[in-house]
Order: sequence, then C-alpha cells, then structure tokens
Amino acid sequence: MANEHIPYKIYLEEKEMPTAWYNLRADMKNKPAPLLNPGTHRPMRAQELSGVFCDELIRQELDNDTPYFEIPEEIRSFYKMYRPSPLVRAYCLEEKLQTPAKIYYKFEGNNTSGSHKLNSAIAQAYYAKKQGLKGVTTETGAGQWGTALSMACSYFGLDCKVYMVKCSYEQKPFRREVMRTYGASVTPSPSMETEVGRKILAEHPGTTGSLGCAISEAVEKAVTSQGYRYVLGSVLNQVLLHQSVIGLETKTALDKYGIKPDIITGCAGGGSNLGGLIAPFMGQKLRGEADYRFIAVEPASCPSFTRGVYAYDFCDTGMVCPLAKMYTLGSGFIPSPNHAGGLRYHGMSSILSQLYHDGLMEAVSVKQTEVFEAAEQFARVEGILPAPESSHAIRVAIDEALKCKETGEAKTIVFGLTGTGYFDMVAYEKFHNGEMSDYIPTDEELQQYAARLPKID
Ligand SMILES: *Cc1c(COP(=O)(O)O)cnc(C)c1O
Repeated sequence: MANEHIPYKIYLEEKEMPTAWYNLRADMKNKPAPLLNPGTHRPMRAQELSGVFCDELIRQELDNDTPYFEIPEEIRSFYKMYRPSPLVRAYCLEEKLQTPAKIYYKFEGNNTSGSHKLNSAIAQAYYAKKQGLKGVTTETGAGQWGTALSMACSYFGLDCKVYMVKCSYEQKPFRREVMRTYGASVTPSPSMETEVGRKILAEHPGTTGSLGCAISEAVEKAVTSQGYRYVLGSVLNQVLLHQSVIGLETKTALDKYGIKPDIITGCAGGGSNLGGLIAPFMGQKLRGEADYRFIAVEPASCPSFTRGVYAYDFCDTGMVCPLAKMYTLGSGFIPSPNHAGGLRYHGMSSILSQLYHDGLMEAVSVKQTEVFEAAEQFARVEGILPAPESSHAIRVAIDEALKCKETGEAKTIVFGLTGTGYFDMVAYEKFHNGEMSDYIPTDEELQQYAARLPKID
C-alpha cells in the first residue's frame, strides 16, 4: 500500500482492543527456566510463593501453556481511560533523516505515570484487591513504576508502599510528589526501615542504591506486614503477559493497513515493554508463520544481554527472592548512576533471556550521550519529549534507518516509545551542559560480580 494511505497516527477503536493477554510461553519450544527456591534449589511451587505474591498472579507466573488469559472487565474499563495507544508513523523523523526506511512507534506515554507500566500496575492492583489484601509494597527506579502503581492502588483503594532507589529519589522529587498525590508512601532505598536495608548501608555506606536493593526492602516489608504482598513492575512472566496488550494493539494496527515490519525494537531494562511489544510477532516466528528481526537495546553501563552471563541468579541484592535463570551481571552489581533509571537492573526477563539464548532475538548496547543525541533529534521533529529509557530504542531505530539510507532499502522499523521524559530534565540539563559521562564497566569489574553467582548444578 502506498505511503499516502497510511495516516500519521493509527488509532484503534475501543472495540478493537484486545480482550485477552497473550502468553508467549505457550508457543515457546524451549520454555523459560523455572524460578528456584533459594534454599533448596528446587522449582518454586505456588504455595511457596504465596507469602510474597498475590495468588492469581502466581498462577499467571507459573503457567507456561495457556496461550490466552482473559482481561477482566474492570481492567478493560481502566485501560479504556488511556488506551488504545496510538501507533505513530514517524514521517517527520524519516524526512529529517532522509531515509527510505518507514519508521513507526507505539507510544505508551499518554497517561499520568508517563509510561507503559500502568498496563501491569492496574492488573496487579486488581488481583490484590480481589484477594482482599490491605495493600502492596514495591520498589521503583526512575519512578515510573511507583507512579503507575500508586495510580492503580488509589483506583482500587489499596495502600501502596514504595521503596525508591535513592539516586532517583534525590534527582526526581517531583515523581515522589506525584506518588504522594495518589496516596502512596515513598521511602528512599536503601533505608534504615528494613533489616536488609540496614545491612546494605553498613556494607556500602553512601550508596545511591539500586533496583536490586530496593526490591529486597520491599519484599521484606511485604512478608513482615499482615495483609500485604509484594508486586514487581518488570522482569516477571506475569508482567510480560500484561504488557502483551502493547504488542497485540500494535499488530492489529499494522494488520489494518497491511504493514509487515522488518525490525521490531525496544529498550530492555527488565524486559517487560519489549517482551510485550514483540509477543504476538515472536509467536508468529515461533510457529513458523512469519519472520522478523527483534532487537533489544540496553545501556552500555548496564549490559545484561551483551556482556552478562546466562545463569541462575538472585533477582535482588539482599538475596531473599527466588532464583531466576537469566542474562545477569550478578545481583551485587550496582550500575553507575546513569540517567535511564528504568534500565539499571542487573538481570533480565527469563522469557527474553531464553529467546536471546536460542538466537531468536538480537541485543545491542548503546552509550548514554548517543542516546540523548537521539532523544533530542526525535523531540525536535516528533513533538514528544521522550524518556531516557525509551530513547535507547530511538537510537537504534535511527541507526537502522540510517543504514537503510546507505543501502537504499525501504525497511519497516517499529519501535516502542515507552514514555515521556518530563521528570528527567536534570538528565537533559547534564547533556546540554556537556556534563554527561558514558561510564562503561570494565571486564574485571563484571567478572568480579559474575564470580559470585550462586552455584546451581
Ligand atoms: C521501566 C521503564 C522501562 C524499562 O522497563 P522494561 O520492563 O524493560 O520495559 C523503559 N521505559 C520506561 C519509560 C520505563 O518506565
């Protein structure tokens, strides 16, 4: 179909929104490795997880076979507040780059949390409420997940306790206030409130924290408080399941115009937006119906896929969580305080790790300053100020489009624009002042953490 017929924004109608989440695991021949009990090293059973997680979410977590999970009516109604999200044809960016490539992005920043995280937050809050819980605890890095969860909890009348990575807490006071607006309590992590927090502070005085530390604190708080469970905004299978709404909508929109992407790319922190975006397309690839190139983009400062080890590791620094098999830098790894807080996690989704290990997906790492160059270029022509995390995907989309310019190929590139960057202006300021660094860990540094991975036979 000729370009003229494709609008700048492909919107779906409400009735075209998905009514079920798609579980990619059902189509995977090599299933992601199971979570292991950190004491016995045996696969975690639902019963062992029930002190930490909500029951229905455990069921979703452990189900490798059911291809579709119906989205409850209450969640679908909430989705309609801010979904379907637009699939945008980046005509202006294409023009600026003078590329024959056709670039599309799925924009998930159209809600107060400013990111895709609300898609899973509302689902997790719903199941917690349905189970009759009083509240939930969680961690947040850059603040998007905490904000999304605060919104979701206030909607269902749940208490919300957030441990926020200290460097973000200090860099982004406004995020904290948004969370408090929705009634959440926010504590900088590591804190003196928990045993694990006190231990981490004693070992690393003055640390700016990490997602791994904050997770340990949130889990400890949940298991020691009556009527509370812990919820997580990424990495877990259940989160990728909820985020499949992104990919399902994208696929419906593309199919409407007969568009078949060549490349689908997105940033990968714990892998939830990327896993959700690629899910239905990867499903086709696994079933032998279609082929696509999938590219995960990660920061050079926290390169789990490209320089990590595929092994069982703890999901948190305090080593209280189950063990997950994933590409990991080691649970003790605390990345340099770069500005894409949502991508500063040592591990990666087990689903994406397995797909990457099986050669079904590629991964690249990009440097921070190059990411902000791409962010600025995008902001100037597309009318959206992107989140630093999302800008990793913009970098690779632009790079691929520039390659097309050299070869003359008119490839179709789809990327996930996960959110907006209005709370990240300190990072933009550093970039504009030329004060942004591109810290890349050395091999020695990475080996030091990899050597401390738990030994599993
Ligand atoms: C959290 C976040 C990410 C990274 O998380 P994933 O689970 O890898 O998707 C990316 N972009 C934004 C805007 C985020 O808030």
